[in-house]
Amino acid sequence: MRNNDLRSAKQAPLCACSLEDVLVWALKPMEQVQNWIGGRWTASAGADGLELLNPATGQAIAHCPNGTPADVGAAVEAAAAAFPAWRRTPPQERIQYLFKLRGLLAAHLDEVARTIVRENGKTLGEARAELQRGLENIEVACGIPTLMQGYNLEDVASGIDEIMIRQPLGVVAAITPFNFPGMIPLWFLPYAIACGNTLVVKPSERVPLTMARLGELIEQTGLPKGVVNIVNGGRDVVNALLDHPQVRAISFVGSTPVARHVYARGSANGKRVQCQGGAKNHVVVLPDADLEMTTKIVSDSAFGCAGQRCLAVSVAVTVGEAQHSFREAMAQTAIGIQVGDGLEPGTQMGPVITAQSQQRILDCIGKGLASGAKPIVDGRGVKVSGRDHGYFVGPTVLEGNFESTELATTEIFGPVLTLTPARDLDEAIDMIARNPYGNAASIFTSSGVAARKFRYEVPAGNIGVNIGIAAPMAYFPFSGWKDSFLGVLHGQGRDAVEFYTDKKVVVERWPSEWSRRF
Ligand code: NAD
Repeated sequence: MRNNDLRSAKQAPLCACSLEDVLVWALKPMEQVQNWIGGRWTASAGADGLELLNPATGQAIAHCPNGTPADVGAAVEAAAAAFPAWRRTPPQERIQYLFKLRGLLAAHLDEVARTIVRENGKTLGEARAELQRGLENIEVACGIPTLMQGYNLEDVASGIDEIMIRQPLGVVAAITPFNFPGMIPLWFLPYAIACGNTLVVKPSERVPLTMARLGELIEQTGLPKGVVNIVNGGRDVVNALLDHPQVRAISFVGSTPVARHVYARGSANGKRVQCQGGAKNHVVVLPDADLEMTTKIVSDSAFGCAGQRCLAVSVAVTVGEAQHSFREAMAQTAIGIQVGDGLEPGTQMGPVITAQSQQRILDCIGKGLASGAKPIVDGRGVKVSGRDHGYFVGPTVLEGNFESTELATTEIFGPVLTLTPARDLDEAIDMIARNPYGNAASIFTSSGVAARKFRYEVPAGNIGVNIGIAAPMAYFPFSGWKDSFLGVLHGQGRDAVEFYTDKKVVVERWPSEWSRRF
């Protein structure tokens, strides 16, 4: 087979929906997504909104309202009212609700995962995996009675002791993206409330159903009303949260341009802000890498979740001899990926989120080809039987030197892997360093020396060594750098506890002479 053959990805077989399924679906009333404010499910005050379409079928599944500043005002008021009692609730009691939530989410994992597939399009396996990551964050936050402890020192001067205690901030907010509807709210929610804060969550308006279901599960834990609130909508809701004087801190995950806006406006309003932004992740494949393992892992990273992961590899830099062997192996793997509806057994890659995203990705591929890229696998023509209206893009592999093109810095956020050759590891590292993003980078090699050099020199916050998705576990910070992160403290683990607490230092004098008074 020639190296620059144009190939197409495999298509999923005809869908196995029964007539009954279709009828049940057609007769189901359109779900109106509601806000959850002060323990009550309420309709938004806003008119209009977004019709949500199942990305695999193009069918309408729900309607998400355009929330308003009035919705935000009501949610912040409910959160502020709940705060005094919640912060006085002992941490040991606060985490009992999280233990219950963990149990409930584990029990309903499959059902919630199906909701994720319906609104986001990823495969059922991917949806289950993201919820597993969410569960892990709940588990870590259950350690708050230990994690939230301060420190102290006796006799900082004669008879004087000093202690540092951590206190919750008050009302905090989390604004989340479409690509992990279950996991990303759980990067923040468990830590925020375990630390004694009350929270307003603004899920992505493109995938609000998962957070609504999580809200129902939280409700079942008996969590006091107003400790967690959900407001749906888009830009207006975000801006109202950024401007609200009672919101003390903002956690944001999404694209870099919006991250910049959120960081600037939130900080200007005196809030503590952490913003995880977009990415353009590189892997470097050295000639001594295990080819079979590397190809499988890089393929999972590039095409898993249809490339819509902030840790997805977008560029594979092949060093020296690796260029030929890796290109061929990757082409074979990419064309074997079964594209289809994420709920259908056997599907390995689902659709992208919207028709607009699909078109944007197809345009990116076109631009790459126009700028001289070699098409190794072209996923533009992929068709899925029985899913004519789904937003599918097949796995695509392009090869060339993209550094001087728009593609080098564009976050494609779709199943497109570009292959770029480099002379040696130094050149590969320079390429990564020139990229404005710094979310993640990985190396595939059997050399410890090369791996250490990579880990030491690469300016990215999440590093993988023979790992394709260098996703930190819940007890480590999710450490994007450069244009992939704005702020100081990251999400998850100990950083989350730092972020959601204020430190208070108390200096006490208790002269020993006073002991004669008792
Ligand atoms: P997005 O930036 O479009 O939206 C994120 C959130 O911001 C949503 O809740 C949305 O309602 C809100 N928003 C959108 N436009 C806004 C505006 N103009 N003003 C105020 N708020 C606005 O991101 P997305 O498309 O939902 O998610 C994909 C992006 O998220 C990608 O760039 C991806 O890399 C990034 N992401 C990053 C991480 C990370 O950890 N760094 C994780 C997941 C996703």
